Amino acid sequence: MAGADVDLFVIGAGSGGVRAARIAAEHGARVMIAEEYRVGGTCVIRGCVPKKLLVHASRFAHEFEDAVGFGWTVTGAKFDWPTLIANKDKEIARLEAAYHATLKHAGVEIVESRAVIEDAHTIRILKAGARIRAETILVATGGHPVRSDTPGAEFTVTSNEALQFDRLPGHIIIQGGGYIAIEFACLFHAMGAQVTLLHRGPEILRGFDDDVRHHLRSEMVARGIKIIFGQTVASIRKDGHQLEATLSSGEKHCGDTIMSAIGRVPNTKNLGLEAAGVKLKKDGAVAVDEFSKTNIPSIYAIGDVTNRIALTPVAIREGHAFADTVFGKTPRGFDHLSVPSAVFSEPELATVGLSEAKAREQGFKLDIYRSGFRPLTATISNRATSILMKLVIDRTTDRVLGVHMVGAGAAEIIQMAAVAVRMGAKKSDFDAAVALHPTSAEEMVTLHNKVSG
Ligand SMILES: Cc1cc2nc3c(=O)[nH]c(=O)nc-3n(C[C@H](O)[C@H](O)[C@H](O)COP(=O)(O)OP(=O)(O)OC[C@H]3O[C@@H](n4cnc5c(N)ncnc54)[C@H](O)[C@@H]3O)c2cc1C
Repeated sequence: MAGADVDLFVIGAGSGGVRAARIAAEHGARVMIAEEYRVGGTCVIRGCVPKKLLVHASRFAHEFEDAVGFGWTVTGAKFDWPTLIANKDKEIARLEAAYHATLKHAGVEIVESRAVIEDAHTIRILKAGARIRAETILVATGGHPVRSDTPGAEFTVTSNEALQFDRLPGHIIIQGGGYIAIEFACLFHAMGAQVTLLHRGPEILRGFDDDVRHHLRSEMVARGIKIIFGQTVASIRKDGHQLEATLSSGEKHCGDTIMSAIGRVPNTKNLGLEAAGVKLKKDGAVAVDEFSKTNIPSIYAIGDVTNRIALTPVAIREGHAFADTVFGKTPRGFDHLSVPSAVFSEPELATVGLSEAKAREQGFKLDIYRSGFRPLTATISNRATSILMKLVIDRTTDRVLGVHMVGAGAAEIIQMAAVAVRMGAKKSDFDAAVALHPTSAEEMVTLHNKVSG
């Protein structure tokens, strides 16, 4: 395009946008990236990373408990929330600076402003009021948490604020049953808060395998988290420092904090997408093809704003594939099959491949292997907890379609199982692998307990 200021303008410096910008620049493109908040995006600033740091902090509580059975006396252990938040903020600032440096090193120009689209090749930078002409525009604006519109919803917080509280809540009521609700419920509970989880559905973690959903829920309840199913919050009333939630049943619950974790929506509003004629899906996400191209040939979109699979590694892969396709002369899409995922709950849950229900829905004839056992750490500490492992096998081909686990280290174990699933491993390959003893993971290669076929 004659007279373009840049080859690529990326809107949003989160996981996907940063990767796309860097790779495009490495392919020789002139790249500009706009960020309205902080470089690093949701994952680094108010998602995966700060959340996982809080999860790590919360896990010491169980470790101190278990330590007693192993002969340790832990006296005077105290938890200080402000210290954790200050140290977390320091680490996030370090990561943000590293992202800035990476982009600068690749030759990408960073614009610290909101940017909106004016037409298929024009972007307006709001802070400076400047217009930039770009050969290609990449929308990588991510998503934001939804707040319900019930009376009193203004008293609720979302995950954004929960990562920045100035003190640990005394009693937090969390609305939602997805992974973010579950993770915050577990971490606040382990740190000492009283937690009530309110979910409108009949079970937590819709979309995950039913056995792991039930298992994690019973572990959470056994630890003391109160879970109320089948209800929503009808209204919220503030009385001094207390909040009173009236549920759809009329029941009332009081706490000092109410967190809304009822979902996230793509950032597509007031972005100029309509002006450029970009088509959206019913859920408000940008509609794209397998190469992340919208219906407007010069505009692409990746990551949470497309609401395909809203996870960091997916946004990164989509961004990389986009940059290779458009600037690296190697057109390639990103295959969204067998993406592993984890819930950093207590205990942890992780999964790759198909759930039993999904596999049956797709017409597979299945063999199901399942095992529940007590982890070694819980034996002499006497903690009432058990690990669940489950393999979903295609009986016709012996292929492993899904691997599911609840228990300590689940995410680390499932990451490696994802390699096997991706390669099309069979149950016989799992059986042929020699156990690494004594571990929890060895159960994956010694699973002979066929529970259904
Ligand atoms: C609490 C929480 C925990 C999570 N935990 C995990 C996890 O454990 N593992 C995992 O894989 N994923 C996790 N996620 C999801 C993950 O963070 C996202 O999938 C990922 O960040 C998506 O990357 P993205 O590039 O699409 O968007 P984002 O990272 O959201 O980046 C979009 C950026 O665009 C900016 N922006 C928006 N509009 C404009 C505009 N008009 N102009 C300029 N800038 C703009 C935003 O400020 C933002 O920085 C978590 C999310 C949350 C909220």
